[in-house]
Amino acid sequence: MLTNNTEALILAEKIGKEAALSCLQGMYDYGTSPMKVLDMIKEKPNCKVIVGALNNSDTDGMLNILAKTNPAGLAAGLSVLAKASGAEEALLELRNTDNEAELLASAKTAGVKLRVEVGELVDVRAHKEHIIFNLETLAGIADKITGTAPGIIIAVDEDVPKEVKFGTKLVDFLDTAKVKSVMINHHFYRLDVLNNGIIKENSYGSGVIHIIYENDCIVEKTKKELENLRKQSCGKCTFCREGLYQLDVIFDDMIKGRSEKEDLAMVEELTSAMKFSCNCSLGKCSGEPAASAITEFKLEVEQHIKKRGCPAGQCLAFTNIYVDPRKCKGCGKCLEVCPEDCIEAKKGYISMIDEFDCTKCGICIDECPNNAIVKVNGKTPKLPTKLTRVKGSKNITEEDTEKKKRHNLKRHRTKLVIPLKKDNNKASEKISEIKKSKEGTIMKKMETDIIIAAGGPAGLAAAITAGENNLKSILFEKSSTTGGAANMGMGPLGIDTKIQKDNFNNISVAEALDMHMKYTHYRVDEDLVQTYFNKSAETIEWLQDMGVEFAGAFRYFKESAATWHIVKPENGVIGPRAASGMAKIMTERAKELGTKILLETPVVSLIKENGRICGVKAQDSEGNIIEVRAKAVIVATGGFGNNKNMIKSEFGLTIGEDYFPFMVPGITGDGLKMMWEAGAMKYGENIEAIYQLPDNLNWFLLDAVLRQPNLLINQLGDRFMNEGDMGNTTFTGNAIAMQPGNYAYCIMDEGILKHYKKNGPDIFDIVHPADAFLAVDGEIAKAVEQGYESYFEARTVEELAKKLNIDAEKLQDTIDEYNEACETGVDTKFHKKQAYLHPITGKGKYLVGKFYLGAYGTIGGVRINKYCEVLDESFNPIEGLYSAGTDANTIYGDSYNFTLPGNSMGFAINSGRMAGESAAEYIEEV
Ligand SMILES: Cc1cc2nc3c(=O)[nH]c(=O)nc-3n(C[C@H](O)[C@H](O)[C@H](O)COP(=O)(O)OP(=O)(O)OC[C@H]3O[C@@H](n4cnc5c(N)ncnc54)[C@H](O)[C@@H]3O)c2cc1C
Ligand code: SF4
Ligand code: SF4
Ligand code: SF4
Repeated sequence: MLTNNTEALILAEKIGKEAALSCLQGMYDYGTSPMKVLDMIKEKPNCKVIVGALNNSDTDGMLNILAKTNPAGLAAGLSVLAKASGAEEALLELRNTDNEAELLASAKTAGVKLRVEVGELVDVRAHKEHIIFNLETLAGIADKITGTAPGIIIAVDEDVPKEVKFGTKLVDFLDTAKVKSVMINHHFYRLDVLNNGIIKENSYGSGVIHIIYENDCIVEKTKKELENLRKQSCGKCTFCREGLYQLDVIFDDMIKGRSEKEDLAMVEELTSAMKFSCNCSLGKCSGEPAASAITEFKLEVEQHIKKRGCPAGQCLAFTNIYVDPRKCKGCGKCLEVCPEDCIEAKKGYISMIDEFDCTKCGICIDECPNNAIVKVNGKTPKLPTKLTRVKGSKNITEEDTEKKKRHNLKRHRTKLVIPLKKDNNKASEKISEIKKSKEGTIMKKMETDIIIAAGGPAGLAAAITAGENNLKSILFEKSSTTGGAANMGMGPLGIDTKIQKDNFNNISVAEALDMHMKYTHYRVDEDLVQTYFNKSAETIEWLQDMGVEFAGAFRYFKESAATWHIVKPENGVIGPRAASGMAKIMTERAKELGTKILLETPVVSLIKENGRICGVKAQDSEGNIIEVRAKAVIVATGGFGNNKNMIKSEFGLTIGEDYFPFMVPGITGDGLKMMWEAGAMKYGENIEAIYQLPDNLNWFLLDAVLRQPNLLINQLGDRFMNEGDMGNTTFTGNAIAMQPGNYAYCIMDEGILKHYKKNGPDIFDIVHPADAFLAVDGEIAKAVEQGYESYFEARTVEELAKKLNIDAEKLQDTIDEYNEACETGVDTKFHKKQAYLHPITGKGKYLVGKFYLGAYGTIGGVRINKYCEVLDESFNPIEGLYSAGTDANTIYGDSYNFTLPGNSMGFAINSGRMAGESAAEYIEEV
């Protein structure tokens, strides 16, 4: 096969169709898809061009050597195939045209018209009508017509390719000493399989056998292979492009100790989908490294996930370098060689390595004359946390025991001191009251089919639905623009949408419903939830049809589902306010369908006659009262997030003191008050809790940076939760609300900040992205200059304690105890992940954010059924009255379900549609 088969040229030129077909009898095409050559010909009876090329999966390209060593064989193979299939010409797609002249001359002798082209990947779409054969198949055909025994070309890694006869044992030509696995055609095989393995036809793909040695890490090798494949993929097929991306991320997480056990199921799902849905051989086998790694080397992969360790000792995330305090003589030599400047050393003191900055290059290990610098695969022993004098033979265990004794003796009961704020005027809201009497002189009377109170996403969705049902509607909006709170948000929830499916992050309604009902302990109306969830995918398409574009379906934080359909922002940057573009499109669509939108005209009361809601009174910007009659009224005024008095009376919270929500202007509970007055059941009011720095929009970067999962303590100086859960803003908001004063201090230091800037933060989300770390310095300086009261800096624990008004000894104790957990890597209290345990040493200075309970706004107030009819105290619908969006959002129970992000806007839009549809049906009946 590797030598030029000139004899075959003459025979091929003379061969007739029948003889050609009989020669191909029983032959397979080499490579990844072992099809019978004759079947391939039968599949395309009108084929005009025979193509000879490498499989796209042959990323090594080794078989291209045939064009150089055996041009005659390739030409003869093409000639036989052309005769057997009736094709008029042949094409060779090669990685280079180094031997083009000889190839063309051989083809002429073999009697076939040939073109030669250069390309890495064969465009299978462009060759839909043609038959593509592997170069090795062509050479094999040439061997067959000259009566040479069939063989296969094999190379081990970069070695010179050899021809091997079928039936040869792998061990006969592979030195298996210290070999753990071999990778053939992107698939890892275990050695015990290989020892029995023989060379068979079609099983060697590219022909290159890659060796994986005992001390290689299979996870790292998989990641490298996936990276290579990503570079090769042309990206035209979603499954190849996105699947490889997701696999790459999962294996990167494994290497870095960030993966979860659910990732394995995801790998299985992705790889089996890729096998069937990709267009060419590259895509079809690009999931192989990942799939075979988890089947053949399950234990090794699982150890990366469950034990956070790398058995081969290769993954740096699990490797640690430390100075053994018993051996260090304090000579300071290591300090001079560290390229990262991350060794703290002083003559006569035990050196310390800053684990954050250490790149584990190992240079210091070679430099230390006392072999005091140690590399371990796993945890380090307990080490000093500050520079300690070299003390002869005193060992670390004794030091620790002493330290422990000190801690056990102390127990502090501190007096709680919550500084009360005197200045309440800071709250940014200006509560706009409806000044004139609801019963003022009626200046204008109007009539329509449906009245919609408010133009947030719920009201707009209801208005469009009214128009779609050929009903007239008037929408009253209190502010000067439509969109409500959605103008500040990013996008709605969608479940089982096409966008999710296209991106492999699909979640079914059944899964989402199960998650949601378990989350809420079934204390919500499942019928209402399922109606909304089932509608949500179609709603996303409904929005797309009117021109809303989505950037994709996203998670809020790692553990949440990708249900958040973020609107493609006008400026292209995904972030807050992206959904304002959607509100604009919805407004235009409502107008187009005939909705009359009256801005700056709040509804002030509902008109109820004979037990039925039949209209509203509204007040225009001049203060005139308009009376409008209609067959149905839909109320969606967004709750009472900006009504200080209601917040106090309903929840006992004081805005600007112990509660810092977003204050959306005009959201003052108007609709709820009107509906309660009309007999609606008062039900399910709550806040959509989060946590944030006060005046968050002005201190956005600081908020994003200081909310990392470091040491979170309350005013008593105690930790109170697993900081690793801080990515879930609702859980953290709830936990903070359990603390005295509804606030908590999150403490880090400049060393940790430097680490985040260099390596990326521990947790981040779309609202608080990693970029914030690069730009935060200016905001920190501004906070210091302006004396921003929720940011603190200190050089010592004493200074910090004073600033935070916490007992200094208690604070020191908490920090010591926390640092001990960081040293051992085990947080025995809250079981925070080891990866988030960074000792608080005060390096540079301590940096602290005072985070408060916050909220997007309120939720709930009236009870609706799945038709969005408003129920009275006896659970009976109030005729003609519907509610949607925040006013009627009682689907969370006691906490916002952030594991399904986009839920609030999702509920608003879907319930707006549901209300519109029910009202239309009701109008048709009456
Ligand atoms: C900063 C921020 C970001 C958010 N991001 C997201 C997100 O990305 N995804 C998500 O799912 N949710 C998000 N939310 C929540 C989401 O925006 C709301 O759940 C959603 O806007 C509620 O829609 P709604 O129509 O019920 O009410 P709103 O959007 O609150 O609209 C209510 C409207 O009623 C008007 N109004 C009030 N009183 C009267 C009256 N008497 N007469 C007439 N009009 C009146 C108001 O002016 C307002 O326009 C976010 C909220 C905030 C504050
Ligand atoms: S499977 Fe991958 S490489 Fe092949 S055509 Fe599709 S995207 Fe391109
Ligand atoms: S670790 Fe080694 S090189 Fe560094 S100070 Fe100690 S003894 Fe010297
Ligand atoms: S391993 Fe490299 S980076 Fe780490 S302390 Fe030693 S010399 Fe510095």
